[in-house]
Amino acid sequence: MAGEPQEDCLFCKIVAGQTPATIIRETDTTVAFRDINPQAPTHVLVIPKAHHKDAGALAAAAPEVAADVLREAQAVADQEQLESHRIVFNTGSGAGQTVWHAHAHVLGGRGLHWPPG
Ligand code: IMP
Repeated sequence: MAGEPQEDCLFCKIVAGQTPATIIRETDTTVAFRDINPQAPTHVLVIPKAHHKDAGALAAAAPEVAADVLREAQAVADQEQLESHRIVFNTGSGAGQTVWHAHAHVLGGRGLHWPPG
């Protein structure tokens, strides 16, 4: 069921404390932790605690939590004192999504080119 923890989901395991992660922020509805394979000096993932397969599913099922994720992504940028940053939701395997639990990438600390690859 939408929102319920999934046994085979890596990010649900991070939320549950079953898989270690470098958590830098946490709210009632979200967790922010450092990406294990950083693509920029700051690369943090912000996820809803509830399981939704991608950002669109999250926004449809729990728009208030989608707003929490965005608010926390900005809070990460502020905490990391990023002059500018990018917030990315890869959606679908063709766009590079590899973990099927909604997450915002917060990237910064270097120049970010446009368009992305
Ligand atoms: P996606 O490719 O947009 O789905 O992003 C998934 C991200 O999760 C990638 O940037 C991975 O490096 C990251 N990742 C995978 N496993 C872990 C982990 O155990 N801790 C932190 N980040 C992870």
